[in-house]
Amino acid sequence: KPVIIIVVGMAGSGKTTLLHRLVCHTQALNIRGYVMNLDPAVMTLPFGANIDIRDTVKYKEVMKQFNLGPNGGILTSLNLFATKFDEVISVIERRADQLDYVLVDTPGQIEIFTWSASGAIITEAFASTFPTVVTYIVDTPRSSSPVTFMSNMLYACSILYKTRLPLVLAFNKVDVAQHQFALEWMEDFETFQAAISSDTTYTSTLTQSLSLSLDEFYKNLRSVGVSAISGAGMNEFFKAIEACAEEYMETYKADLDKRR
Ligand code: GDP
Ligand code: MG
Repeated sequence: KPVIIIVVGMAGSGKTTLLHRLVCHTQALNIRGYVMNLDPAVMTLPFGANIDIRDTVKYKEVMKQFNLGPNGGILTSLNLFATKFDEVISVIERRADQLDYVLVDTPGQIEIFTWSASGAIITEAFASTFPTVVTYIVDTPRSSSPVTFMSNMLYACSILYKTRLPLVLAFNKVDVAQHQFALEWMEDFETFQAAISSDTTYTSTLTQSLSLSLDEFYKNLRSVGVSAISGAGMNEFFKAIEACAEEYMETYKADLDKRR
């Protein structure tokens, strides 16, 4: 069965560019993959999508028909698509023997997927049929301040608890800024506290206790540094995905069966 890789991250973190890189990487190694686009508002894609929400839902027409703004249009388009998602699952199931991965790109604005009913329905539909892994893309150069870093990690943490799926943290854009600082902060919360205490506005006890809680969260995930532009870190990325797929089989699958 193919492993589903759902790519999420803040707007501009590099989801689409990374997906393109992953497509090039897998094609070069004869790894068989499918690409799915769930962003109804994207104008052009750098890769050819096997399944594209834009083939089914016309975002501009949805906006007009329901008298919506851009965000409402994207959300409603995703809702419409979610109602037909069983068809998407059958298409993938039919090709299951011929696929190693399905890469899934999500809308630019992260909350449209992570905090919507349709996002939950789509994630659940995948996870109940295939081994499913969430990849959270971090914009490394934009997370170098401890405060931004922490809010980004809190977001990733909320996704882990909401989806209950294995999570890979992909520190993207390492061609611009190395992610070593992030690894150090995650390995040793005292290093992080030292960094944050130099920021005098954030020496509160809340920050202190948050970094302690995050320590627990960090133990539950894998992190890799990647560059969608240079192609650095691709092998490590797929190793992390493999490990997560195994974790899905051992833990999440059993948990899902129990809940059903
Ligand atoms: P999305 O909104 O998450 O899909 O982000 P995009 O893939 O559209 O990328 C946003 C911007 O970041 C674009 O200008 C990309 O060229 C740039 N970008 C993405 N990945 C990288 C990377 O690894 N390194 C660098 N330097 N820029 C990147
Ligand atoms: Mg995008």
